[in-house]
Amino acid sequence: MCTTNKKFTNLVEVMMHFSDNETCKEYLAQLRWKDGVVCPHCGNTEKIYTMKSCYKCAECRKPFSVTKGTIFENSAIPLQKWFAAIWLITSHKKGISSLQLHRDLGITQKSAWFLLQRIRYAVRTRSFNMPLTNTVEIDETYIGGKNKNRHADKKVEKSQGRSASDKTPVFGLVERNGRIVAMRVRDTKRATLMPIIHKSVTKNAKLMTDEHTAYRMLSSLYDHEMVNHSTGEYVIGECHTNTIEGFWSLLKRGIIGIYHNVSEKHLDAYVDEFEFRYNTKNITDVERFENMLYLGNSPRITYNQLINART
Ligand SMILES: [Zn+2]
Repeated sequence: MCTTNKKFTNLVEVMMHFSDNETCKEYLAQLRWKDGVVCPHCGNTEKIYTMKSCYKCAECRKPFSVTKGTIFENSAIPLQKWFAAIWLITSHKKGISSLQLHRDLGITQKSAWFLLQRIRYAVRTRSFNMPLTNTVEIDETYIGGKNKNRHADKKVEKSQGRSASDKTPVFGLVERNGRIVAMRVRDTKRATLMPIIHKSVTKNAKLMTDEHTAYRMLSSLYDHEMVNHSTGEYVIGECHTNTIEGFWSLLKRGIIGIYHNVSEKHLDAYVDEFEFRYNTKNITDVERFENMLYLGNSPRITYNQLINART
């Protein structure tokens, strides 16, 4: 976890503290180079000159800025606005829409959308590789419109329940009192879900699922318990999937309430944003803010890559 022990409690304080570009840059440098400046061109850490508004590497002789290679690089949006946006995104439990951000920050909606997508991309490319352990609930859900809201000619048969004909499946694993791993999946067949499960949990984890056929095989490989939702069972002692279902409902309310609609193409980014928020729920707003800024060090993505990305 990366923090500087700064204390902000609201957006006004964030905006007052980061009153100019230089303050933002110094702060980013503190977060990015805790153990000293590293040249983003050649990796040199030895001799780096600090110039007026950038750095210069004594090794490769190239100048660079603290935003080099980050999501903030070459952005026409000032860093103060990026910081404000990151504060807004991380402190709103249900997220924030590009429309809201456009109004709050006085930037165009297109810029606001791009900024949000870049931040989500940064979250996504940060990999949390530690497998889940102890009791892990596993479940899948479907994101997409409901038939009752559609015009008659657009209704899709069997669009409810586990049919993926109309909705996008999202798969998730959550360690009780721990982290969540969630992602969009192609389908919810055993062949798709099994490799994800193997990769995401430890061998001795205790798995809780419902009776979906894809999960049946798990009993031969793991300590595994199933609740039979179709016969009205929801909780038998410790055996339930209420934690992951709570996450699904937060995700769905977020997507419906804040974003109204989400294209399949960008669903991953939204799921990741909610995953990030869930996984950092026990830290303070400032720590979450700094973590998100720190993630900004992920490779940057251009507007063209972003809109053409098949994510
Ligand atoms: Zn260098």
